[in-house]
Amino acid sequence: MTKIIAVTNQKGGVGKTTSAVNLAASLAALDRRVLMVDLDPQGHATMGSGVDKHNLDGSVLDVILGEKRPVEVILDCPEAGYALMPGNGDLTAAEVELLEREDGRERSLAQALGEVSNEYDVVLIDCPPSLNMLTVNALTASNGVLIPLQCEFYALEGLSALLDTVEQIKDSVNPSLEIYGILRTMFDSRNSLTRDVSKQLRDYFGDALLKTTIPRNVRVAEAPSHGLPVTKYARFSRGSQAHRVLAKELIRRLSL
Ligand code: ADP
Ligand code: MG
Repeated sequence: MTKIIAVTNQKGGVGKTTSAVNLAASLAALDRRVLMVDLDPQGHATMGSGVDKHNLDGSVLDVILGEKRPVEVILDCPEAGYALMPGNGDLTAAEVELLEREDGRERSLAQALGEVSNEYDVVLIDCPPSLNMLTVNALTASNGVLIPLQCEFYALEGLSALLDTVEQIKDSVNPSLEIYGILRTMFDSRNSLTRDVSKQLRDYFGDALLKTTIPRNVRVAEAPSHGLPVTKYARFSRGSQAHRVLAKELIRRLSL
């Protein structure tokens, strides 16, 4: 069974895109068929996959609006090893168009992915840094959410709004939506605040707190400017290794 995973947190800069791209590449390297959906108008997952977001023939926007079929916009990213449904700044228009629709507006992405998801073992959706209609579409289309966060003082504060949104989606359009994991990114275990926040996360989330942490690593930050996942750009870096371990943890946990 295909698992559709929304990589989400309405806070920007917590490592959503980095986690989505490197996890996608790591799962692909372990022979999983992976589709990445770039649902953020910033198009960072698109660029980080080596695709020029300014030169797209079609994007996830066309798919959401029902103007193109998924197969018409999905690109192969041979270097990264996965398929990409690209996105760019045009997505800001989707927010408005979707809000104007009468019904089914939460389900647009779910319906579109329904056409192609069987072709993949895993679909990862890189969400925008907000709880808008695009994110609602992602949560409606997904089996579970992966929440990256940095272990800092304000990390937990924003989380309650996200968890409330997840609950609302469960109560309405997607009762089986799960929390697949809380992922600690840019992690520094020498920092005492990191340890305090980790303890709070463990107390609150229990098993949903993933064991794997992603260390802060300069190679991870450099990789997108080469249009590559870190697992290809700097294979033996700590950041690369951590993402491979993360992929294995999720494969076990979710039976991917
Ligand atoms: P988001 O998608 O949540 O906005 P990003 O994945 O774009 O966050 O990450 C924000 C910034 O932090 C980017 O510049 C990225 O390169 C950097 N970054 C993310 N993870 C790491 C890491 N493990 N080590 C070093 N830099 C990182
Ligand atoms: Mg991002």
